[in-house]
Amino acid sequence: MYNIILINPPVYDFTCYNLWEKPLGLLNIAAAFERDRRCRLSFIDCMPERLAKKSEYERGAGKLTGIPAPKPECYKNVKRNYHRYGIPLDDLKARLEKIKAEGFAPLNKTAVLISAMMTYWYGGAYEAARAAREILPEAKICLGGIYARLMPEHAAASTLFDYIETGYEIRDICQNILRLLNIAPADTNSGDRDNEGEIYPGGFDLIPAYHLLPELNNSAAMTASTGCPFSCSYCASKILYSEYKIKPAAAIINELTYYKNTLKVSNAAFYDDALLYKKEEHFYIWADLWIKGSGAAGSGFNLHLPNAVHASMIDDKCANIMKTAGFSTIRLGYEFYDDKLQKESGGKVSGGALKSAINNLLNAGFNKKEIGVYILFGHPQSRIDEIKNAVNFVMECGATPHLALFSPIPRTPDGAKIFEAHPETLHEPLLQNKTVFFEMYSDIKYEDYYELKQYIQRNASTM
Ligand code: SF4
Repeated sequence: MYNIILINPPVYDFTCYNLWEKPLGLLNIAAAFERDRRCRLSFIDCMPERLAKKSEYERGAGKLTGIPAPKPECYKNVKRNYHRYGIPLDDLKARLEKIKAEGFAPLNKTAVLISAMMTYWYGGAYEAARAAREILPEAKICLGGIYARLMPEHAAASTLFDYIETGYEIRDICQNILRLLNIAPADTNSGDRDNEGEIYPGGFDLIPAYHLLPELNNSAAMTASTGCPFSCSYCASKILYSEYKIKPAAAIINELTYYKNTLKVSNAAFYDDALLYKKEEHFYIWADLWIKGSGAAGSGFNLHLPNAVHASMIDDKCANIMKTAGFSTIRLGYEFYDDKLQKESGGKVSGGALKSAINNLLNAGFNKKEIGVYILFGHPQSRIDEIKNAVNFVMECGATPHLALFSPIPRTPDGAKIFEAHPETLHEPLLQNKTVFFEMYSDIKYEDYYELKQYIQRNASTM
């Protein structure tokens, strides 16, 4: 017998939006451990805030409310307020005390698994780790998530963790934790099988354990694939996922059906990096099953793409399938207006491909607001006039520009150049925060950003 306690920690940042995000990694790990009868599982969601605005709740995405927090020294010149998002620390400690009091397995057979998504969110994970150490001193405190995978040395230097997980295969993670606790391996393989009777690879048979979350905000997050075949110089996808893998169509339909019919939420968001890659062999197959099975569009269940999809893959047929399947938020990655910058950074898109994709989406019935295009803001090689050209081009094409704030990501080519020029940004991940990086390390000021955002809003309202 053993205890697994999963903690989605609080977040410290200037601002925090929940665009359908859920602690997917922890929820998948929970789903795997639930298959082992020896495990007593507890989940503490430190970010259970219900979206207050009705329109935001219905859409499943919106702005979170924080409380003012002291600004770390490295942000002292940033003239904006810093916040803590999540339940109070005392509540987190009380939850841990309650789990401890309920008992089950000895405390030395207990692992506390904490995740941290952004590298610059490590403070919330450290806070949760300190609380767990104080209340459960014999437990093994473990860290996972994107911060752990990109910056394991930084996390190790804190000496707060007994184990730092740098992998992403869910069943491997579970076995690593069991090894840490000196527990015999678990059979967490009792899930769905493919046509040959084999367990779906990559943990793709697991449905994230959403029933453990206190608040779903009318939405679920999911993936239909992991990884990306491209290698853009500013992106960590290749580093986080060594290969591109797709989830079997039947597993995707199972998952969507569960969200719609059992959880009864109205929204599902895909966090794939390359949802439309080889669309004939993947997206078209599951989307067709979904359309035939549920009459998705008009059924009151909306699909969203907060992560950009590849514009070059959206032809006429693809746009129509997306519309019929019930997508209502489309995001396309454009990033740079300048052809040279597009090519040098990975060549995933061109102005022509973007224009054609937007045209196909408009013809399929999407409106301008539903088609958002990400433009990289604050990248060291793009200037404010280049960004403004991109904004104008996107609006001319008939879509809505969205400024995606650049931050240097460890182990990416663009990150490496910045860390070489400004080593402090590698040593202190808080300096990688996208909301302040451009202000601190480029000649673009916050006022430029604000002005451009207002320019987009003015034009969007007249479009
Ligand atoms: S195409 Fe998108 S997900 Fe893939 S490497 Fe480029 S930015 Fe990352």
